[in-house]
Amino acid sequence: MTLPLIAGAALLVGVVLLATVVIGKLRSDRRRDDLAQHDQLTGLINRTLFHDRLTGALARARRDGGLVTVMFVDIDGFKDVNDRFGHAVGDEVLRQIADRLVGCLRESDTVARLGGDEFTVILEGGKRVEDAGHVATKILRTIAAPYRVGEREMVLTASIGISVYPIDGDSYDELIRGADTAMYQSKSGGRNTYQYFTRSLRERTSDRFALMEDLRNAIESGRELRIEYQPKVDLVRGTVIGLEALVRWDHPEYGLLMPDDFVPLAEESDLITPMTRWLLDEACYDMSRWLGEGMRPMRVAVNASERLVRDANLVEWVAVALAAADLDARHLEIEVTEHTITREAERAERAFERLSGMGVRVSVDNFGTGYSSLRQLKRLSVHTLKIDQSFVRGADTREESRAIIGAIVSIARCFDLSVLAEGVETPEELATISALGCTWAQGYFVTRPLRREDVRTFVDSYGDALASSREG
Ligand code: C2E
Ligand code: CA
Repeated sequence: MTLPLIAGAALLVGVVLLATVVIGKLRSDRRRDDLAQHDQLTGLINRTLFHDRLTGALARARRDGGLVTVMFVDIDGFKDVNDRFGHAVGDEVLRQIADRLVGCLRESDTVARLGGDEFTVILEGGKRVEDAGHVATKILRTIAAPYRVGEREMVLTASIGISVYPIDGDSYDELIRGADTAMYQSKSGGRNTYQYFTRSLRERTSDRFALMEDLRNAIESGRELRIEYQPKVDLVRGTVIGLEALVRWDHPEYGLLMPDDFVPLAEESDLITPMTRWLLDEACYDMSRWLGEGMRPMRVAVNASERLVRDANLVEWVAVALAAADLDARHLEIEVTEHTITREAERAERAFERLSGMGVRVSVDNFGTGYSSLRQLKRLSVHTLKIDQSFVRGADTREESRAIIGAIVSIARCFDLSVLAEGVETPEELATISALGCTWAQGYFVTRPLRREDVRTFVDSYGDALASSREG
């Protein structure tokens, strides 16, 4: 009996040991999971677990019905707290915010911290979209109560963006993007507010006819349209060599509209013609005034779409605009896309020849994306090739893009044309295009398009800024 007893005891010890090891491992696994899935600072769940929770909530809603609401909660001006009081105080405030968020939501709701001062909330099983607004109001009120850390007291506000399944999308990515966009809208709308995601204008207005009427009125009154100017620079000389006129529409109901929202619509109707004529007049007038005020000489560029190139009157309109503004033709440039040139080859050839004869330059926009032939390029009176943004983007890391840029630079040299890179966003892209022999550039890295009143300051100080950045 002793033997089995000993064996039994040994077995028991073995089992206990094994159990201890297994439980220990489970605990340490859970700790590791905890660490991997929770935010160290606040104890809230992190991005990884948030992803799982939202994906799960969407699967349940697809099966059982009901809404899933995603909120992005971003603390307004949180950087100031860190700057003024230090990171230890900032961390403590974030912990308090986390506690307040958890405190004002139901147990079944999810609160996560994705990083920095950005929190996200998931509400499950709702029936009405408006309920999200009530919860957002409650969150805003909770966050706005004063914070105390040691001796210090402070007040903070938040901006909230909301997107709702299935209205704003049915995937994780769509809902996150929607809530994020809405959060930015509520920040730019004045902070301490919440905003539901609204789709892009194209999806919002099914009434294209009404929008066209609005555009017609805007052009006639000349009050809602305005121009922004994006400088083109010569990297070697460190000077601004031109300004591209880009149209903007301050719509009374929809706010600021960008060309992609309405230029295609204008292009479909006859509105593109009066719109471009308005722009031509304004741009010539602005340039004439700036030159009169002593700005360094350069060209202002206006985009002419396919409809304008097709119109036999284009050259006359250009002449009228120059005369009315008392601007010399060598200060004007017309940009025409490579697509238009291929589709309207004969008309383009005739129009460009006459424009060139007057002294107006023509550049080929979005070069590299169309199908113009070398023979055609040789025949056309064009002066500059604008390398399309898609080749410039990430050119420092993309061998194929560099090869294309190199080829375009060679074509330009061969035909004695100038060449400019569009859409330069980073110093690496800038270095790459200049190494490939393209020394004219335009893009966010140089500057975003400028409001009319900011042009002079930029042009006058550009050379200095470049010189000091090189010395630095
Ligand atoms: P585009 O002629 O290729 O103009 C350049 C566009 O790229 C502008 O957008 C400009 O703001 C943007 N851009 C410039 N640098 C960068 C950069 O570094 N990164 C990025 N991501 N974008 C950059 P915008 O103003 O929205 O204009 C879009 C398009 O609308 C223009 O493309 C042009 O084809 C058209 N457009 C603008 N104004 C007019 C106009 O007055 N008449 C006509 N017909 N078309 C216009
Ligand atoms: Ca252009």
